[in-house]
Amino acid sequence: PEAVVKKYLEELKGTPADEDCIICMEKLSSPSGYSDTCESSTIRPEAVGRLTNCQHSFHMLCLLAMYSNGNKDGSLQCPSCKTIYGEKTGTQPKGKMEVSTFPQSLPGHKDCGTIQIVYHISRGIQGPEHPNPGMPYTARGFPRYCYLPDNEKGRKVLELLKVAWKRRLIFTVGTSSTTGESNTVVWNEIHHKTEMDSNLSGHGYPDPNYLDNVLAELAAQGVTEDCLGQ
Ligand SMILES: [Zn+2]
Ligand SMILES: [Zn+2]
Repeated sequence: PEAVVKKYLEELKGTPADEDCIICMEKLSSPSGYSDTCESSTIRPEAVGRLTNCQHSFHMLCLLAMYSNGNKDGSLQCPSCKTIYGEKTGTQPKGKMEVSTFPQSLPGHKDCGTIQIVYHISRGIQGPEHPNPGMPYTARGFPRYCYLPDNEKGRKVLELLKVAWKRRLIFTVGTSSTTGESNTVVWNEIHHKTEMDSNLSGHGYPDPNYLDNVLAELAAQGVTEDCLGQ
């Protein structure tokens, strides 16, 4: 964990600015508020570091505490501006993603056919990365069918969704906002269109802003066009 913090933080020498650390709410000029709960042999409680891209500063020990409480996947997210360092991964349970296309058009996309994505996830036992490790989770409504227009932008979204799937970001285990059931597989902040020729749930077409919205949601998880060349 220390190595991850040191990879993305540059230690500041000299007197830190007169600012608060937004993780522990102590001044940067005083020691980290996590010094009694988070131990490190190589990071001093007074050490202050700056994230290399967004330039936000925190106690290095505070970021270490934050990282250690997460799923420790080698990535860090700035608690101030949400910039992602490294490759953020999620806690999506095991499953399968299938893609096919067919010629019928979606409402609002008369000029092209349709991409169908089918997600398969079965119920199972929660792992250490889930809210209640060792307890079962349910998987309702699978397989889940989702639709994209088969045009250039829709195909780009599809490729990014494949990256998000591989990084376990499409679903998570939590509480369903529609049924209130806990310990169940739920969508994870990347919206999908689950209706093709109707729009009864609000998750259907036409929706002229959908592709842009989902691109922004993917970017918020660190999945952007930059990931496609890899
Ligand atoms: Zn702090
Ligand atoms: Zn930041």
